[in-house]
Amino acid sequence: MSTDDDGVNTICPYCGVGCGLSLESGEAAGDVTIKPWFDAPVNEGALCVKGGASTEVVAHEDRLTSPLIREDGALREATWDEALEHVVDELERIRDTYGPDATGFFASSKVMNEENYLLQKLARRYGTNNVDNCTRMCHASTVYTLRNSLGAGAMTNSMADLRDHGDVLWIQGANPAEQHVIAHSHYFRQAARDGATLIQIDPHANKTTKDVDRHLQLEPGTDIPLLNVVLETILEEGRLDEAFVAERTRGIDHLKATLADFDAEAAAETCGVPLEDIREAARIYAEAGNAAIFTGMGMSQHRCGVDNVQNEVNLALLTGNIGRPGTGVNPLRGQNNVQGTCDVGAMPNVLPGYREVDDDEARSSVEDVWGFEIPSEPGLTNVEISNASGDSVHGLYVVGENPVMSEPDATEVETRLSDLEFLVVQDIFMTDTAEFADVVLPATSWAERGGTVTNTDRRVQLMRPATDVPGNTRHDLEILCEVGTRLFGDAAGFDFDGPEAVFEELTAVAPIYHGLSYERLGREGVQWPCYEPGDEGDQYLYAETFDTNDGRGVIRGVRHTEPAEGPDEEYPLVLTTARLEEHYNTGTMSTRSPTLRRRTPENFVDIHPEDAADRGIEDGDYVRLRSRRGEIVLKASVTEDIKAGSVWTTPHFSDARANTITNDVLDPLAKIPEYKAAAAAVERV
Ligand code: SF4
Repeated sequence: MSTDDDGVNTICPYCGVGCGLSLESGEAAGDVTIKPWFDAPVNEGALCVKGGASTEVVAHEDRLTSPLIREDGALREATWDEALEHVVDELERIRDTYGPDATGFFASSKVMNEENYLLQKLARRYGTNNVDNCTRMCHASTVYTLRNSLGAGAMTNSMADLRDHGDVLWIQGANPAEQHVIAHSHYFRQAARDGATLIQIDPHANKTTKDVDRHLQLEPGTDIPLLNVVLETILEEGRLDEAFVAERTRGIDHLKATLADFDAEAAAETCGVPLEDIREAARIYAEAGNAAIFTGMGMSQHRCGVDNVQNEVNLALLTGNIGRPGTGVNPLRGQNNVQGTCDVGAMPNVLPGYREVDDDEARSSVEDVWGFEIPSEPGLTNVEISNASGDSVHGLYVVGENPVMSEPDATEVETRLSDLEFLVVQDIFMTDTAEFADVVLPATSWAERGGTVTNTDRRVQLMRPATDVPGNTRHDLEILCEVGTRLFGDAAGFDFDGPEAVFEELTAVAPIYHGLSYERLGREGVQWPCYEPGDEGDQYLYAETFDTNDGRGVIRGVRHTEPAEGPDEEYPLVLTTARLEEHYNTGTMSTRSPTLRRRTPENFVDIHPEDAADRGIEDGDYVRLRSRRGEIVLKASVTEDIKAGSVWTTPHFSDARANTITNDVLDPLAKIPEYKAAAAAVERV
């Protein structure tokens, strides 16, 4: 146990910034208080309101403390032996009856690297690549584009070098002041104080807007036309970096051909932003010494999410703003281990370290370590698994995920999960998804277990246990080891005595982690790639070459794809969604925190005063928000933060579940749902 002056050093369980904190434990299990960890590498002791309230859920009265088994329609308490035997029997029965691809496995970024690594190994030992994680819902399109066009599905740079060297910070579809608070306060704001220009592109005015120099408030789902105006301006005015484009990229002709018949005025009109405002922003970006792009779920969560992010890559490559400090394309990732969950291979198409599952050489090198054959066909993504439930999928093993809240068209998800023959959920609370489970396995929380997490700028950091295990709970790792050993035998590769042993195996199969060890991580963590024990890790990527086949960054022109649903007579508004400062994803933890609940007790919808007046809605009224998939009732917030014709709400609240009404249409390549644009109607209740 590593300690600072007053406690155990660990990492905040919420967002991908990865702030360090110290926990001081009392006598009773779960009795932990936060002390600042003043020399924590990312945040130097500072925490936002969520991080500061994070211990409130550790000893919460709703914590699951016993395994549960469904009997005669109701869940009853069971022993671990009974519950695990039931899980193993059902997994075996489904595999023997339908084959291994009839079961899906959901990993989660709320869970640590070692646990996600073990879950994907379990799935592959079972005989399927049907394993996926919640990145599919947030940044799958970003990861897809960055991997294919640059080489690694991760932030190209680091928060620290962007603060120290960035002259222009281009923030598109992200709201760091609320969603990555310490990144905003410690890095973005500091950069602004040091003279950097901040440009925000977002349909919703939010807390970030208060700190930026320019806000281009575009219509939801029009990021491609806006960026095409930017690219066309740079090309037309000769503001590109011709030497960089010639020496380090390919595809410029494709971009030029795509923009050959481009009508910038019409594009600006589509975006709802004055043409000259976009052109001026383009000039500021192109003329900066170092310009960095930050990209969020406002870009990724569209049916054209891959193309949206490609256009950001186009912008960075065209101007040579990549491969040095203060530049690049930088996704702001949502959860504290969202990067690591992909790094460790909890995805249907890649093995640990992002090596393709259908690459014979990559598969063979992992098989040598694991000692069993890995299926070669990529599996289903999590939305595909949910959609196939009851048809080709009959079993589902969920660790830390909550698809009933997180997936679009959530009422249909409930129906699908009800059609499963067997559902096991492993979590710390009785989630909305666990209500449908046949077996519920109570896991320990972030404050009670150790392991590693990888934050948004690729920093692998150690989390450490600070308090005892409550009730009859077990660590996720211990549960997965037990299930693996019961399923496949003592010598099947699931017999680990703790997270460090699992991490050692992970470093053997994931090249980007080869040089890491718990000892190396120490108090500071290390930013991958770290190929050898002596590697210090990289603050920024692609200094010399890109990790593509020919070492060049890929420029590819893209055209506007309208949202799948446009407004019409019955649903005349466009609904878009985003997260709040006070709450976190499906609300499992944050809505149970008294401090956070007090600050934002319920869901609400932002509606423009003109749209509100048309419907006789006043601020604070309860309204019905409808789409083709269902309806929710929530409070109206009448505000000019959203433009007329659009409405905006949040995904955190189970009793006014936004995903009841979001659209489940997917990006064809990344399979990410279009959460950010759906036709909707609203009226007073
Ligand atoms: Fe936790 Fe993120 Fe807040 Fe830091 S910014 S304290 S990691 S929620």
